[in-house]
Amino acid sequence: MKGLMYRGPGEIHYEDIPDALLPGADGALVKATMCGICGTDLHPYHTDMGASNYCMGHEVVGEVIEVGPEVANFRVGDRVLVPASIGCGQCRPCLSGHVYLCETYANGRAYGQGDPTIPGCQAEAVAVSVADNNLFHLPSDFSDEIGIMLTDNIATAWYCARRGRVQPGDMVAVIGLGPVGLQTVMAAFAMGAHTVFGLDLVESRRQAGKKLGATIVGDTDVVPKVLDATDGKGVDVVLDASGGAATTALAIELVKRGGRISQIGVSEKFEIPFPILGALFKNLEFHTGVCSVQAEVPHLMAALSAGTLNPDRLAEIVTHRMKLSEGAEAYRLFDARPEGLQKVVLDPTE
Ligand SMILES: [Zn+2]
Ligand SMILES: [Zn+2]
Repeated sequence: MKGLMYRGPGEIHYEDIPDALLPGADGALVKATMCGICGTDLHPYHTDMGASNYCMGHEVVGEVIEVGPEVANFRVGDRVLVPASIGCGQCRPCLSGHVYLCETYANGRAYGQGDPTIPGCQAEAVAVSVADNNLFHLPSDFSDEIGIMLTDNIATAWYCARRGRVQPGDMVAVIGLGPVGLQTVMAAFAMGAHTVFGLDLVESRRQAGKKLGATIVGDTDVVPKVLDATDGKGVDVVLDASGGAATTALAIELVKRGGRISQIGVSEKFEIPFPILGALFKNLEFHTGVCSVQAEVPHLMAALSAGTLNPDRLAEIVTHRMKLSEGAEAYRLFDARPEGLQKVVLDPTE
């Protein structure tokens, strides 16, 4: 079959790769109908992270084409989304959906991260182990675009807002208005935020946030502007979709005393400076972590069905559709972030 192989920084190749095979009696084989490129795919694209020569990607929706005899909840022909994170399906965290805290596999497992036993999803098909725990049915009224968002991005955004405990009436700031940041704006409103300030250095991204209802304060003097708009107090919750040194310091400045910061951006650095005294004197809470997609999807399905999350707005975050065979160009484009580009998806049939 065909897939996108990572051959080192800047080197994405559309190649013949080994066929995905049924991974045991509890597994399923999924033929891809849409694959996504995620911001975290750009980390190895930029920097050698120690592994190369593996199939990339952790966002895919498709159709079940084979199931093992122990799979109870899925049949051949089912339309499914594949969560980026993989659980063992046996331990207590996995059984409650919190697969990133899996007790069988330390540090969580995900597709396309360089582990030779878990190839990526930017391919014609993907092998899913423990299918009953690592697949979700994708209802016919949800588009493939919605399904792709549910595999990772909107789940991560929801997790971010949930850990920040966004409450009805809260004043919220979202830092970084890339695809996940925009979805974090949506999640904050779905949880009842009164106002969501959208902060980004790029004008077109701020405009995308504005379309989702975010309050835009430009790219200069954002701290005094947000303080002015919150009676000098700062916001109840800061949701940081960037996770760098500058945005961490900004989050601590923006949050009110006793407020909450939730950070889900994956830094390209192992260590960053942290203004510990500024944080201490504010009595703030600081949360960071990796989303367990399986724990968030049921809540997201409910929010989409109820309309607190608007499925059309969510699907509109996909701005670019390309062929899997154009993967190298798709990565180049996604990395260059031309004006108006948000989410890039790939058609694996072409
Ligand atoms: Zn991702
Ligand atoms: Zn587990």
